[in-house]
Amino acid sequence: MTDLTMRFTARTDVGLRRSSNQDSGYASSRLIVVADGMGGAAAGDLASSTAMNIVRAVDRDLGEDDPRVVLVQAVRDANRRLGEIASIDPSVDGMGTTLEAMLWTGEHFITAHIGDSRAYRLRDGEFAQLSHDHTFVQSLVDEGKLTTKEARIHPHRSLLLRVLLGRADNEPDIGQLDGQAGDRYLLCSDGLTDMVDDETIAATLALDDLDEAADRLVELALAGGGLDNVTVVLAELIEPGEADQEPESVLVGAAAEPPRKRPAASASTATIAPPPDVEELRYSYVPPRRWGWLRFGIAAAVLALVVAIGATVLYRVTQSQYFVGVSHGHVAIYRGVQADAPLIHLNTVVDETDLPIAALTRVNRDLVVDGIEARDRADAEATVARLRESRKPPKEDKPKPSPTPSSSTSPASPSAPPPPA
Ligand code: CA
Repeated sequence: MTDLTMRFTARTDVGLRRSSNQDSGYASSRLIVVADGMGGAAAGDLASSTAMNIVRAVDRDLGEDDPRVVLVQAVRDANRRLGEIASIDPSVDGMGTTLEAMLWTGEHFITAHIGDSRAYRLRDGEFAQLSHDHTFVQSLVDEGKLTTKEARIHPHRSLLLRVLLGRADNEPDIGQLDGQAGDRYLLCSDGLTDMVDDETIAATLALDDLDEAADRLVELALAGGGLDNVTVVLAELIEPGEADQEPESVLVGAAAEPPRKRPAASASTATIAPPPDVEELRYSYVPPRRWGWLRFGIAAAVLALVVAIGATVLYRVTQSQYFVGVSHGHVAIYRGVQADAPLIHLNTVVDETDLPIAALTRVNRDLVVDGIEARDRADAEATVARLRESRKPPKEDKPKPSPTPSSSTSPASPSAPPPPA
């Protein structure tokens, strides 16, 4: 079996809202690449074209070397170069790019993927997404917290978790895929996938003519709003005899244009008050989500600790207080305060006396029911003693007197008022 080769094409469009194209696309008979730059101003173009030009050089430099090693090294070189440029020119620090690359070895594809540009395959009528978005919403979908439908309209759908930024940990996914004659492949920037649904993309990718399919995909993105740069790179695996390609390769977008200076204040293609550069926003803050959750966890733990300390202090304070109140119909000494708090008992009975509140005067009874504050335990005991002394005078319900006439002169109790003279 002779090695298959690729028919290919590429298109890009600035879209209807952007003033510059920060996407780059490349296609040849064995390599297809898309890079979606970010960082605003001229930086997105620079990131995209820098990475693209290093990665597409694989086509020229491959030789006899292991294609996988060569592609992985190219992506690393591209990332390192972004870091070097940013270290020389701090004004472009934070620029970065997605990268989607498929290298056909003659037997299989080596793939490199980082960011939210996508790779799709149409094989025997079956449409499949080959890449896995490195986005916040995709991570929520993976965790079952969001459906793919919800992800499409999520307010943070463009927030990326991984991208080439020139830092050591910007590692792409590297993979290997088989290829069959007749397979159609599409690499694209999010300017297509945000505007056009998968079903429509699949149907368009199936069009007979590859160039027509590419044109149509760009038209669909513009018809869908054209909010972003849109780049599509298409390839079809074919028998070598079918190869009829004239150019050896196609390069489109930022990498195909001369390096831009910072955009002039009044560009000739003046647009009506361009909206804030969402590309800058979406890439300017790329938090590793794990740490985001960790920060949330630490904040929650600190808050819980503060609440716990507060509750403990409050409890301690309340437990140094005493008051005299009622327990089971008797005067009782309580530790704590007479208040209710959810889930916390703010007082406990420390001494339930044998003094029934029924024995108290009406005024004292009311005071005890309301609770009489005490400075400390001794003060509370003194209050009980005073209550005991000021009991209301016993009436007829005292121990039955002897049937003898009222000759007794002794008072019924020491606390009773002296009998009338
Ligand atoms: Ca984009």
